[in-house]
This record gives sequence, structure tokens and C-alpha cells, in this order.
Amino acid sequence: MADMKESQGKVFDRVLARRARRLGISESAARDVGSQEPVYLVAAQGAAARLGRSAEAVLEDDLRRVENSTYPSANCLTPDDLEELIDAMGAEQVSLQEVMAAGKPVPSKILSPPWASALDHLTGCDPCRTLLATCLPSEARKREFETFLEKRLSRAIAHS
Ligand SMILES: [Zn+2]
Repeated sequence: MADMKESQGKVFDRVLARRARRLGISESAARDVGSQEPVYLVAAQGAAARLGRSAEAVLEDDLRRVENSTYPSANCLTPDDLEELIDAMGAEQVSLQEVMAAGKPVPSKILSPPWASALDHLTGCDPCRTLLATCLPSEARKREFETFLEKRLSRAIAHS
């Protein structure tokens, strides 16, 4: 029994040494990394503090939401479907802003029949509407991307 404990200790030390090398930190710092709380729990605690509830209640709500979720349904739009829908909207000169601003229900008459059913689906499906909303052009996101790209490129040029 003592031998097994000793060998487990050695394995632990080896794992710790490898972690320290991989992360480029000391072995005592590497030991602390493992004792940090899981990311999901930290997120739940943050939400709990914001909502004035317990972390357990937040996690239970999340679990209930996942268990009761019907997403994706057979009618849900895939990212490819959305790309085609947006192309069809462009062909009929209907803007994404127009569709999103229309709120609920999305007026399906603004597109021809094959796409009208997709718009009908968007009326009642929040996850699909959220996916569509991420397709909206955003000046702020464009600027963020350009800044990110500039930093990356200048770093890459500096290293070449
Ligand atoms: Zn859907």
C-alpha cells in the first residue's frame, strides 16, 4: 500500500513538472493551477452574484433549460441555410436590418415562398433569430477585427 502511494506521488510530481514546463511556470505555480475552480463554476458564481441568487440555483436553471430545449428542431436553420437566406434576401433587395427590425412576426411575404417558410420559422425560434442577428454587419466588430489583424500582422512582420 505504501509503495502504491509512493508511486502515485512520483507520477503526480512528474505530471506537475511537465505542466510547469508546458506552461513555462514554476512547479509551485503549476500546483496552484490545478486547484483553481472550474470555469463553469466561476461563471455560475459570477451570474449568481449579478442575479442575487446562489450558484447552485443558477446551475439548476441552466440544466433545466438544456433539458427542456428543443433546439435544434428539424426546421432550424444551419449556418449554411442562413448564408443562402441572406443571399436570397440580397437578390430580392431585402436587408437583414429590415428583417431584424420587423420584429415578431417576421413578415414572410417580403421573400418568395422557399424562403418565406424560413422567415416563418424565425418568428418563433429565438436561437435561430440570435444566429441571424450575429450576421448583422457591425462597425464596432469590423473595427475590432481590423485592430486585431493589424496587431497580428505587425507582430508577424517583426518576427520575419
Ligand atoms: Zn430554429
